[in-house]
Amino acid sequence: GREWHLVARPHGWPKPEDFALRETEIPEPGEGQILVRNIHLSVDPYMRGRMNDVKSYVPPYELGEPMQGGAVGEVVASRSDAFQVGDHVLHHLGWREYAVVDAKLGVKVDEALAPLPAYLGVLGMPGLTAYAGLLEVAALKEGDVVFVSGAAGAVGSLVGQIAKLKGASRVIGSAGSAEKVKLLVEEYGFDAAFNYKDGPVAEQLKEAAPDGIDVYFDNVGGEHLEAAIGSMNTHGRIAVCGMIAQYNATEPNPAPRNLIAIIAKRLRIEGLLVADHRHLQQRFVEEVGAWVRSGELKYRETTVEGIENTLDAFLGLLRGENTGKMIVSLSA
Ligand code: NDP
Repeated sequence: GREWHLVARPHGWPKPEDFALRETEIPEPGEGQILVRNIHLSVDPYMRGRMNDVKSYVPPYELGEPMQGGAVGEVVASRSDAFQVGDHVLHHLGWREYAVVDAKLGVKVDEALAPLPAYLGVLGMPGLTAYAGLLEVAALKEGDVVFVSGAAGAVGSLVGQIAKLKGASRVIGSAGSAEKVKLLVEEYGFDAAFNYKDGPVAEQLKEAAPDGIDVYFDNVGGEHLEAAIGSMNTHGRIAVCGMIAQYNATEPNPAPRNLIAIIAKRLRIEGLLVADHRHLQQRFVEEVGAWVRSGELKYRETTVEGIENTLDAFLGLLRGENTGKMIVSLSA
C-alpha cells in the first residue's frame, strides 16, 4: 500500500518536496488489531500545525513516518471480537491506503445511517466542533447576532446554520469567493455574507451588522478577529476555534490591535478544542443527525480522488479550494 510521509518540516507554505508518497508492504494485524483498507481520508487545517516541531495539543508528525489523520475504511482482516471483516470503521490513521488499527481506537460506523464521508465532516469532528463551540463555548442565546468566518467551510457552514436553528436573530458569514457568499445566503440561510477579499473586513462587517454582533465564531484570526472585536456588543462572546490566516505565516500577525475594547465591552474570548467536548457527542449526533435527515441543515463536500492527490487536497484546503468538508476518496 502507499502512504504519505513528512520528509522535511515546512517553513511557511508547505512545498511538495516536504512530502513523499511511499510504497510499503501491507501490514499484518496483531492480537486486538484490525487491518483497514481506507476508503475516505480527511485533510484538515490542524495538520499544518502537526508539521511543525512544536509542543501542542497533538504531537508533531515525525519525519520519515506516515502522517496521521481521520479516515473511514473497511475492515479486511480482524483479530478483534469487536470488528468483523466488512465492517466500516472511523479511525485516526489516514494519509495511507492500508492501516493496522488497535480495535479499541476504532469506531464502527454504519453506512445505512449516513454516507461514509459524513463521519469525517458534518457528523464527525468538524460537526462536533461547530456544535460545541457555538452552544457551549460561545454560549449562544436566542436573539443573538452571530458572525462566523470561514463560513463556507466544514465547521463554519454548520456554525451559521446551527445558530439560525437555535434562534439567532441574525447570522453573518465571511468567505473567500463570490460563489461561496452566494451559497451562504441562498442555500444555507445566512442573513448576510461578504467576501473578505473584496475590502476591509471591519467595514464589510459593520455594513452587514449595523447593530453590532453578540457572538463571533473565529476560524480565521488576524484582521477578522480585529473586525469582530470592533463590532462586538457589550458582554459579547468570542469562541476562538482556529486562526487559519496565520498557519503558514512566518511572522506573527499584528492584528488584533484593538484588544483594549475588551474592557469597556466586557468581552469574553475563549479558545476551544473539540476534544474537550466529547460529552456532547451523543446529543450532537442526535440533534444534528435529525436536522440533516429533515433537510433543515445542508452540507457540501469537496472530493478529490486518489491517494496520490492527498497532498494537493490538503494544500487546496489551505488555499480555499474546498466548499464544505475536503475529502480524499480512494477507489477500491
Ligand atoms: P474549512 O473547511 O473551513 O477549510 C479551510 C478554509 O479556510 C478554506 O476553505 C478557506 O476558505 C479558508 N481560508 C484559508 N486561508 C484563509 C485566510 N487567510 N483567511 C480567511 N480564510 C482562509 O476547514 P475546517 O472547517 O476543517 O476548519 C475551520 C477552522 O476550524 C480552522 O481554523 C481549523 O483549524 C479550526 N478547527 C479547530 C478545531 C478545534 O478543536 N479547535 C477543530 C476543527 C477545526 P475561503 O475560500 O473562505 O478563504
